Amino acid sequence: MEAVLISFGAHAMALEDKLRSRMKNIKHKLMVMSGKGGVGKSTIATLIALKFAMKGWKVGIMDADLHGPSVPKLLGVEDSYMYKEQYGLTPVIGPFGIKVVSIYFLLSNRRSPIIWRGPLKSAFIRQILAEVAWGALDLLVIDLPPGTGDEPLTIAQTVKDIDGSVVVTIPSKVSRIVVERAIEFSRALKVPIIGIVENMYEVICPVCGHRFKIFKGEAASEIAELLRVKVLGRIPFDPELSEACDKGALAQYLGRDTIVRREVELISKAIEDYLRGIEH
Ligand code: ADP
Repeated sequence: MEAVLISFGAHAMALEDKLRSRMKNIKHKLMVMSGKGGVGKSTIATLIALKFAMKGWKVGIMDADLHGPSVPKLLGVEDSYMYKEQYGLTPVIGPFGIKVVSIYFLLSNRRSPIIWRGPLKSAFIRQILAEVAWGALDLLVIDLPPGTGDEPLTIAQTVKDIDGSVVVTIPSKVSRIVVERAIEFSRALKVPIIGIVENMYEVICPVCGHRFKIFKGEAASEIAELLRVKVLGRIPFDPELSEACDKGALAQYLGRDTIVRREVELISKAIEDYLRGIEH
């Protein structure tokens, strides 16, 4: 398989200035993080972005996962491309007018693995952030790469002034340790933690409605107590949600009355209260 090698470079000061002026028009910035991959971080980030957009907020979502970008797929806009226009890179417009930015849109060959040379990764992230013409937004949701390594660090430091973070986890004991690390990471960056979302908390049988747990443990509650953070909500495992993700139909899924939707509403309400609370 042919690999795509990406190289970018630009003057650091010019980038800083550009970035500052682009970010000026974004009222609130939220980062969604997880200690490790596969816990549903991108799914939750996209559901939150959709919920705010459905309420009439002007929303952008930055898919900052360079190795496994998935937001375009979840929103059903994976056949689109971002173009460089007079004012910068224009985001792709998704359902409910969500502005979507992802490395995925810039790839000419979408099936090849993306090979990054270490320092280029940071330079690329910075350049993309500085080049995107978001326009005026009420909320930018940043779907950070999983973990607490260089990439999430570069993004959080480059964007600056992030209003808060949402940490996604599953209820297993193993995730407890990684979530603790994610919380410490957010605190070290001085980004306040709005709360934890516990994903795949339980399974609801599509036939009889019976609920049962797949992971033993109460990771979110334990961490919340230990580190004094809130649990914003608990999302069950729903086979229909997973199907909607595969079909790029998250927006349609959120239009139906489900337990997941009710939880997403509670989570968004808690985030909105937090964001309104810090507005002056
Ligand atoms: P991450 O961003 O943490 O790597 P994703 O959001 O890409 O994880 O989710 C991984 C997979 O799990 C996706 O296929 C998604 O459809 C599925 N998934 C996530 N949360 C749920 C859920 N609550 N119910 C059913 N499927 C889910």
